[in-house]
Amino acid sequence: MTLPQHLATLSQRLDTLNQQIVTLAAAVKRDPKTIKLVAVSKGQSIAAIETLAQAGQRVFGENYLQEALPKIAALAQWELEWHFIGQLQRNKAKAIAQHFHWVHSVDNLAIAEALNRARPLASSPLLICLQVNLAHTPNQAGLPITQVAALAHQISHLPQLELRGLMTLLPQNDSDTLKHFQNLATLLTELNQSGLNLDTLSMGMSHDYPAAITAGATMLRIGTALFGPRQ
Ligand SMILES: *Cc1c(COP(=O)(O)O)cnc(C)c1O
Repeated sequence: MTLPQHLATLSQRLDTLNQQIVTLAAAVKRDPKTIKLVAVSKGQSIAAIETLAQAGQRVFGENYLQEALPKIAALAQWELEWHFIGQLQRNKAKAIAQHFHWVHSVDNLAIAEALNRARPLASSPLLICLQVNLAHTPNQAGLPITQVAALAHQISHLPQLELRGLMTLLPQNDSDTLKHFQNLATLLTELNQSGLNLDTLSMGMSHDYPAAITAGATMLRIGTALFGPRQ
């Protein structure tokens, strides 16, 4: 059985990207095993996701609940790890808390409490990152850096959530990418010094993942550089 051309090249692109991550990590003396690739599959087909699953990719990120639910159902036998990385709405919290393993985009207590209430008691806690708006991008989700510590400590008391770290997303034309990523890494260190126990820096997309690796990213969220353009 041969794969259609665009799916065959997809597994090659996964190999290339994984090799690149190893090389970039080595260049800054980091263990590549501490860097997890979240394949951002919004706008991509179930067949494309399945091709990557077959090639060994287990972790996928989606932005839109309605788009994600049929994919999660269709690919259930692969036991993939699903990360919600899109803008959160309160009326979607219940389904998100039931169907995803991680949520990267929490930026207020009300949404955190809604996810906490909705996470089934029989499930392990929902794994959470706080989204930080480092570059002060207007109209973008995320907390200002000065409000992160207070929310982090509040969320750490919610039993069905497990706060794991911080997430950010920089504009494509950001002039200070490395510095912003380093600021997020510093903030994580400060939170840990204040009594939290966080291990996740979700930062770096197709246009800026090398800088994110340099600054200490533990999760890269990469879509177009892996799948090609979205439909
Ligand atoms: C779409 C998206 C990505 C992936 O972006 P690419 O540029 O395709 O790599 C990563 N993170 C978030 C939050 C996104 O919305």
